[in-house]
Amino acid sequence: MADITYDVTYIGAGPGGYVSAIRAAQLGLKVAIIEKRPTLGGTCLNVGCIPSKALLHSSHLFEEATQGMAAHGVMTSGVKLDLKSMMKQKDSVVGDTVKGVDYLMKKNKIDRLTGIGSIAGPGSVTVTNDKGESKTINTKNIVIATGSEVAPLQGVEIDEKLILSSTGALTLKKVPKKMIVIGAGVIGLELGSVWRRLGAEVEVIEFMDVCLFGSDAEVSKIAQRSLKKQGLKFRMKSKVVEAKANKSNVTIKVESRDGGRIEEITADCVLVAIGRRPYTDGLGLEKNGVEMDRGFIKTTDGFKTSVEGIYAIGDVIGGLMLAHKAEDEGVVLAEILAGQSGHINYDAVPGIVYTWPEVATVGKTEEQLTEAGVDYNTGKFNFTANARARAMSATDGFVKILADAETDEVLGVHIVGASAGELIQECIVAMEFGGSAEDLARTCHGHPGLSEVVKEAALDVDNRALHN
Ligand SMILES: Cc1cc2nc3c(=O)[nH]c(=O)nc-3n(C[C@H](O)[C@H](O)[C@H](O)COP(=O)(O)OP(=O)(O)OC[C@H]3O[C@@H](n4cnc5c(N)ncnc54)[C@H](O)[C@@H]3O)c2cc1C
Repeated sequence: MADITYDVTYIGAGPGGYVSAIRAAQLGLKVAIIEKRPTLGGTCLNVGCIPSKALLHSSHLFEEATQGMAAHGVMTSGVKLDLKSMMKQKDSVVGDTVKGVDYLMKKNKIDRLTGIGSIAGPGSVTVTNDKGESKTINTKNIVIATGSEVAPLQGVEIDEKLILSSTGALTLKKVPKKMIVIGAGVIGLELGSVWRRLGAEVEVIEFMDVCLFGSDAEVSKIAQRSLKKQGLKFRMKSKVVEAKANKSNVTIKVESRDGGRIEEITADCVLVAIGRRPYTDGLGLEKNGVEMDRGFIKTTDGFKTSVEGIYAIGDVIGGLMLAHKAEDEGVVLAEILAGQSGHINYDAVPGIVYTWPEVATVGKTEEQLTEAGVDYNTGKFNFTANARARAMSATDGFVKILADAETDEVLGVHIVGASAGELIQECIVAMEFGGSAEDLARTCHGHPGLSEVVKEAALDVDNRALHN
């Protein structure tokens, strides 16, 4: 291996790195990938998207079985939680998925190196394994795809026993009686939902006055209302200034945002979910002159860093810190490295929260359009007016479509409701084709289907929804 000069070497095998590696290999490039974890797939497959969605699904089934089925004539008395089996199911989903990535590396003849990768200089990368043994490989191009890590909170030290990051919250051995979640963002609401469904009293503490900050304001409000109805508690405009782990519980100090009131709360555990920050430790960026911007690697067109032959993609370059954004960047970069061209329309990258109901958004919010002075029309439709949603007892939520007032082009879509993450997909296709609300409205939708909610919202852009 020492004599090979790779066309491209990836540092980090998350969705950015491993997907890009596959595409590069498909295009005939000689590829190496370096990963410090024993398994491939990065944050997403090991401690992120996949385990959290496995637990969200299992805990949803549990809640349905305990509360949701009687109205449908399915009597489920005596339903019990077996948390150990639920965790085993999650672990097997993760295990199968990461093994799948292994297989894909072999299938595409990508050389996998286990250890910490660091840039030795232009065209060379050193890999150091956990025994401290190093080797250096030669490569024409280096792609940094090292992702992100949990953002710390001052005064709150994560021990993964009582004071948890998302990683610890995915592996609890028993259901806490009371859990505090710091941060009403995607991860806080998803994992807070898991533990509430399994029986914990969950209180979410948030500095802002809305959950899912940055989302369309109406979406934040409706999502929070739904989650509150299910029993999630919210303490807004508040900040946690200290957390102290006791023998078997945690005491936190919460201050109102204006500094007026300080309160102490005790809980069985605390989940810190205030966001993630780029991970660049040990890469040797400074030494090699790679420019940074507030901790993120600075890139220009084509994911170039400030140093020739070094590129970066995924969470480590910022923007939406999402797996599918990292994957798409990886594919485009591989194609550029193989001499093709490509670009990403970041306005058509969705954000999905896998709570119940789900929240899915793409494109501009009403607030962004108003601020930019864009004239737009709004179409809305509630799930409650959809027959399939009623049959499924899934009437919470709505679809909102924002379309340019002059051209009718779809500029943003915001959905709170069952399967929102799947329903939004047709809107994204429409947006990628520069489609209009009229295009969505004129498209025949199967009946009775949840997707008719999207069609009706599109009709409502022109005030002609049929079932409103
Ligand atoms: C709990 C949770 C739930 C999430 N849910 C979703 C979701 O539902 N949908 C979604 O789109 N996103 C979700 N995300 C975000 C998603 O996981 C990330 O956006 C995505 O993993 C970023 O991909 P990446 O390839 O940039 O980096 P990562 O997946 O973080 O991968 C980077 C890899 O690089 C490795 N690495 C770092 N430094 C080195 C080095 N020097 N040498 C060798 N290896 C190194 C790391 O070990 C890691 O495996 C979730 C995140 C969390 C924490």
